[in-house]
Amino acid sequence: MSKPNPFEIAQKQLDDCAKILNLDAGVHEVLKHPRREFHVSIPIRMDDGSIRVFQGFRVQYNDALGPCKGGIRYHPDETIDTVRALSAWMTWKTSLLGLPLGGGKGGIICNPKELSTGELERLSRGYIDMIWQNIGPEKDVPAPDVYTTPQMMAWMMDEYSKLTGSNNFGCITGKPLCVGGSCGRGDATARGGMYALREAANELNIDLSKATVAVQGYGNAGSYAHSLVSELFGSKVVAVSDSKGGAYNRAGISAEEAGRVKAETSTVANTPGAKKISNEQLLELDVDILIAAALENVITRDNAGNIKAKIIVELANGPTTPEADEILFRNKVHVIPDFLANAGGVTVSYFEMVQNTMRYCWSFDEVYQKLNERMTAAYQGVLAASKKYDINMRQAAYTVAVARVVEAMKMRGWV
Ligand code: GLU
Repeated sequence: MSKPNPFEIAQKQLDDCAKILNLDAGVHEVLKHPRREFHVSIPIRMDDGSIRVFQGFRVQYNDALGPCKGGIRYHPDETIDTVRALSAWMTWKTSLLGLPLGGGKGGIICNPKELSTGELERLSRGYIDMIWQNIGPEKDVPAPDVYTTPQMMAWMMDEYSKLTGSNNFGCITGKPLCVGGSCGRGDATARGGMYALREAANELNIDLSKATVAVQGYGNAGSYAHSLVSELFGSKVVAVSDSKGGAYNRAGISAEEAGRVKAETSTVANTPGAKKISNEQLLELDVDILIAAALENVITRDNAGNIKAKIIVELANGPTTPEADEILFRNKVHVIPDFLANAGGVTVSYFEMVQNTMRYCWSFDEVYQKLNERMTAAYQGVLAASKKYDINMRQAAYTVAVARVVEAMKMRGWV
């Protein structure tokens, strides 16, 4: 079976929302397409002296609410349609959180695990060399995403600053603290997801201190979610996985242990005392909370019916297909949809932009408090819409987010 196309999924989700909101056909058409996209070929001198050309993209989906905002992914399977979908989801994400920002996304087709540090630096700088005239604090502000790091953001900021002839910290977020990063940006995606999970558990009367949790994906979002769910709520994580496989232990797996095993053996699958399981098995475990923190299209019509978790926290972008959404809604699985669940990352990125503009640094506590307020308000807004229209949480999030973008487009005279 061919893989679902994420952009077709994003458009289908928007179509559903257009029906619920009774959106004007022309306005709907405008929202179905990215406003601008850039396709670049980045030539890189490899360590062995040869030259390789990498394909890169930056899609600026919609900037009615403000400059585009969104991460850059380095992935061998990157496609323009994936980036388009992700940039659409960024548009709904920033809108849903009430941020004065639009949505964008970037990607480079590459396998960062096979590149040296020097090659990664030249690739990161090379990407900025190709797109710098079209990004910037007032136009489009990139950030980290799958397989991109604060170090890469620092190289990109430095390259942009050199090209523009000024220290331009606000051109990119997710930077290291010493060069204009924000306290709390590192674990912001996971932390925001935890605040949303707390609200969902309250709503469903689930006691998180007694809950069992499975975490799929052990990158920036998943690994922090593991430690935070134990630290903030005392929940028991019984299963973890990454791209190489998973581990299950009914007695619980600590974040320290899984982190150490991953650092030493490159996968959490080797966690001692745990049973090796596949990513597919992890998704179907009998747990209270499933944290989907890997990649898109992992919960499909083939496995949605077997999911036993009461709450799914989508820290990844696009983990659930529309057919799976229908099955989960029917089975009363409470899905905290991606552009709500993982919005903590871009929210703290926005705080980073504000601090860069003010040349000021907020404390961890200030950042956590502001993040908590925004995530709680966004979750409650979505829950209210889902009850009002009797629709699932994703459709509800769409109605809130799309309505705001449409209002801004109208006010600006675009439609
Ligand atoms: N890449 C993250 C996301 O998908 C963060 C984006 C940002 O901080 O701009 O939301």
